[in-house]
Amino acid sequence: MSKKQKKATSGINVQALLDSLNTSYLRIHKTYEKYFWQSYMGDHSIDDRFEKNQIIRETFRSNEKLMKKVAQAKDEATKKEDSLLLQWEHFFSKFQTPDEAKGVYAKIISLEKAILLKKTSQKEGYIDPISKKFIKAPRAQMRNIMSTHADEKMRKACFTALENAAVMCTEEFIELVALRNEYAQILGYEDFYAYKIQTEEGMSKHELFEIFDEIYDKTKYAFAEYRNLEKDMPGLRKPWNMGYMLAGDFTKEVDQYFPFEKALDRWGRSFAAMGIKYQGGKLQLDLLSRQGKYENGFCHWPDLVHYKNGKKVPGSANFTCNVVYGQVGSSELGYNTLFHEGGHAAHLMNSTQSQVCVNTEYPPASTGWTETQSMFLDTVLSSIEWKSRYAKNTEGEAYPLELYKRQLAKLNRFTPLSLMGISSVMKFEKRVYEEKNLTQKKLLAIAKNTYTEYSDVSVPSYRLLSIPHIYSWESACAYQGYGLAQLALTQWRDYFYKKYEYIVDNPKVGKEMTKMWTYGSSKTFSDCVKIATGKKLSATAYINNVTASEKSTLRKATARIQRLEKVPLYKKDIKLDAEIKMVHGKQTIATNKKGFSTMTNKYAMWLEKNRIN
Ligand SMILES: [Zn+2]
Repeated sequence: MSKKQKKATSGINVQALLDSLNTSYLRIHKTYEKYFWQSYMGDHSIDDRFEKNQIIRETFRSNEKLMKKVAQAKDEATKKEDSLLLQWEHFFSKFQTPDEAKGVYAKIISLEKAILLKKTSQKEGYIDPISKKFIKAPRAQMRNIMSTHADEKMRKACFTALENAAVMCTEEFIELVALRNEYAQILGYEDFYAYKIQTEEGMSKHELFEIFDEIYDKTKYAFAEYRNLEKDMPGLRKPWNMGYMLAGDFTKEVDQYFPFEKALDRWGRSFAAMGIKYQGGKLQLDLLSRQGKYENGFCHWPDLVHYKNGKKVPGSANFTCNVVYGQVGSSELGYNTLFHEGGHAAHLMNSTQSQVCVNTEYPPASTGWTETQSMFLDTVLSSIEWKSRYAKNTEGEAYPLELYKRQLAKLNRFTPLSLMGISSVMKFEKRVYEEKNLTQKKLLAIAKNTYTEYSDVSVPSYRLLSIPHIYSWESACAYQGYGLAQLALTQWRDYFYKKYEYIVDNPKVGKEMTKMWTYGSSKTFSDCVKIATGKKLSATAYINNVTASEKSTLRKATARIQRLEKVPLYKKDIKLDAEIKMVHGKQTIATNKKGFSTMTNKYAMWLEKNRIN
């Protein structure tokens, strides 16, 4: 080979480059996640190291030189290597900021910080309607008062306070929208919404809203139910009355069928019956509420699935929630975490991808697809057939069909409106970023009009401006992930019911899901939906499900209960192919070393000591 030809290639050893990328990112990711978990579980003594390691991670992911090296290495690559390099190139591209946009990005981040500071340093509270005094209360508490307080004056006082808080940063927000649009336009997008949806879900705005506008048009008829009901419940459509007046008091009645001490067994049995496994990985579960612990449930993966000397090394997952043992309604949340976060965990721990950059929940992973897995498993738990089989009270009586019928009679009429909340945020952000000359007046009008359009309230509200997601880079224009997941999982459920007649305790369903999980995040949302369900994503399945009449929903439920009765209960030992550790902060409560049931018994005994009443 002549010298000249040799010079034309990069001379990079592709395998060595891939090895080094995998080793580096694996280590950086693991260190970051270790501090993330410690901090979120309430140990803030390591927060400085947590922040330091976040910066290390960002530096790696946005490294321009590495991205260039990956691109150059393609000269030397075999076909197989080329596809792996492409995964890294795609990964790095998600975190790059072109030079000419760097200044804009810096301005955006500092403005977001300023907004956050202004919001968090604001005195929060409402004017007491009787004493006329200012009462200090965080926003979450005011929202809670608004949906539960028996006195309308109190509910309205909190509504007024929340409205004032919502418009606190409108000027900064307008500036932020302009900067974000400028950023997106430098990258060649029409606006920031178009940029976000394309990079996160691989879709165009047109594709997205074609689907969600159809849903709106086909379900909005159910708003008439509010108006009908308002004749018997005057003032129902006022925003401070709606939640309060509609909330059924089913919580207490339902609670008895979800004893938390049985949650681990029921979750493990259901997953085992479906054949869901964790491929030899480790699970760490911290489920009880505790002072200083993060207030929302989540699942993270400190150890990513990876390959060492050609052999697969299993991953690990931590998941958490905030059950208050003994508080009515709290246990169901714990059940939901086991299915939802347990589903997230199973998704990535079943990946067989060799490159760690497609084995995390971060970009290029699609929120829509990851939520499809967890929300699908939520529907296993919430299905009437699961409840009829598994949800039993201490007397051994299963969740009665009669209770389900009463819930249906009260709430089925509002089911068509289930996606309105998510859709309203999507539409609001789309309109804001598309507005050519956004002014204070225009922004407020868009907020009010969009909210009214999607909730049919009789008094307009600035509620949409109080959604925290719209103010931060990562979560702005990202609400569609939950909406897309809802559509995809309904389509998937329909596919499974048609093919196998039942989902709960069906190992064939678990097998097909596991197959999809082997892809990690190496495919786009649209591709995954197509492969999994055999069809392009559409709203049809979702619309058919939510617009079904009470009678037909009940008929379907009864048939599904009967179908499951023909399937024998899974009675073998529960084996999820995972080392499971039940923890409470730094304390280990129980493990499955001596079997799943030994662990659940030990955990139940410990729970009893932590009962609040
Ligand atoms: Zn989730």
